[in-house]
Amino acid sequence: MFFTDKKTAASHLKTATNEIKIDTNKGEVYYKNLYDKCQTNLNKLQAKERFAEEDFYDRLEEEGIQRRDFLKWVSATTAALMLPGSFEPLVAQTIEVINRTPVIWANFQDCAGNSEAFLRTDGPTIDELILDIISLEFHELLMTPSGEAAEAQLADAMATFKGEYLLFVEGSIPTLDNGVYGTIGSSGETYMDHITRLAQDCAAVVAVGSCATFGGVPSAAPNPTGAKGVMDVISGKNIVNIPACPANPSNMLGVILLYTMTGELPELDHLLRPKFAFGTRIHDVCERRVHFDAGEFVEEWGDANAQDGHCLYKMGCKGPFTFNNCPTVQYNRETSWPVAAGHGCIGCSEPGFIDKFGSFEKPFVYNPSYNPASDISPVVNIATVGIGMMTIKNLFNFTSKTSKGEE
Ligand code: SF4
Ligand code: SF4
Repeated sequence: MFFTDKKTAASHLKTATNEIKIDTNKGEVYYKNLYDKCQTNLNKLQAKERFAEEDFYDRLEEEGIQRRDFLKWVSATTAALMLPGSFEPLVAQTIEVINRTPVIWANFQDCAGNSEAFLRTDGPTIDELILDIISLEFHELLMTPSGEAAEAQLADAMATFKGEYLLFVEGSIPTLDNGVYGTIGSSGETYMDHITRLAQDCAAVVAVGSCATFGGVPSAAPNPTGAKGVMDVISGKNIVNIPACPANPSNMLGVILLYTMTGELPELDHLLRPKFAFGTRIHDVCERRVHFDAGEFVEEWGDANAQDGHCLYKMGCKGPFTFNNCPTVQYNRETSWPVAAGHGCIGCSEPGFIDKFGSFEKPFVYNPSYNPASDISPVVNIATVGIGMMTIKNLFNFTSKTSKGEE
């Protein structure tokens, strides 16, 4: 659905912008109530005796991580979760009990890129993250058992943590021809049946990556297997979408952390994405934005403007149409992100990005004489087109499910 007239466009843009917008200051009373609620929840978790206790700080020391570095990580994480600095002690406390949130990870039609990203989650260390900090009860790529032993482990985890586990889902679900294009296990259970069974007793489903959220690469035209994202297959469950290819591990950890701390899922937008991660448009916080505003663009790969770090819009950057926190959280221990590395954003965290955006290296609005920095009209400029084209289409395509899992 695209604009028919300025009035309709303006009205839809307002709705879409409001739905995505993150309110970064909700006021003193809100944060005080939230703080108290988190503290009560953490006290309850601390009283649980299910797991063997050990001193978390001793473990950090054993791994050669200074307490000061951990506190820096806590500060950065608190800010990334859009919480005031006063929540830092709660975030630190949460890490100590984060293993009270059991996670079951299931793979479907995917490349395992999100698992790979998850393994590289920043700090404390990979081993601690997997084995000690997060209670990862099942992950077929990481665990030793296979075959029937793996199936038994899954059944055991589901029974032990019935109603408590977060079900992380990686990959899309093939739905054509009763789902025969994806099966698992000795019984040949289809992915459709598998995810339905796993989701039945979970506390919430966390779909990670472009494929599990919106269908991703497998759902690109002609979509031969009828691949769909989780929210189009599962109903009646709480669902969180963490899109991108791969999903940023900081956002995965952020969801687990917030859930452990508050006992609830984070605030979500209309596409079920956590607002702390997807409440900002890439274009609005991009380090090349000053060049966009000045009309300074890379015109050809490797030209002088590329060397000077100019804007990549004309080389196909979809940052103006994409909501994600890549520019601020970055990847690989905050060393870089795609636009900083020299390639435009391909919009991987937006639904249907492969079909909708066309070529990765051509502008979405393609006209050689078009100056993207100028307004298209008093109502619709490059910025509002970005929000509008993506979100209005999404609103119509993806609002069948709500964050409460209601149809
Ligand atoms: S178009 Fe892309 S490179 Fe240019 S400012 Fe926007 S996000 Fe950054
Ligand atoms: S910069 Fe764009 S394409 Fe790259 S990971 Fe972020 S959202 Fe995806």
